[in-house]
Amino acid sequence: MNYTFRCVDAGAPTCFSSFAANTEEELRNTLIQHLGRHGVTKPNETLVDYLLAVGTGRQHSLPLNP
Ligand SMILES: [Zn+2]
Repeated sequence: MNYTFRCVDAGAPTCFSSFAANTEEELRNTLIQHLGRHGVTKPNETLVDYLLAVGTGRQHSLPLNP
């Protein structure tokens, strides 16, 4: 399975980052690292789960705090 996550899809319209990952675990780690650029150093599980849901196509469009 190949996952692609784009920050714009998660409601961060000014972030043009996108990531590809082969596994959900890899995507999770990449996302957590990237959240530092949004000022989120200790993301809670709710946020991570939401972002994973967007990246894996389970859910779309809820705002990520800019
Ligand atoms: Zn971003």
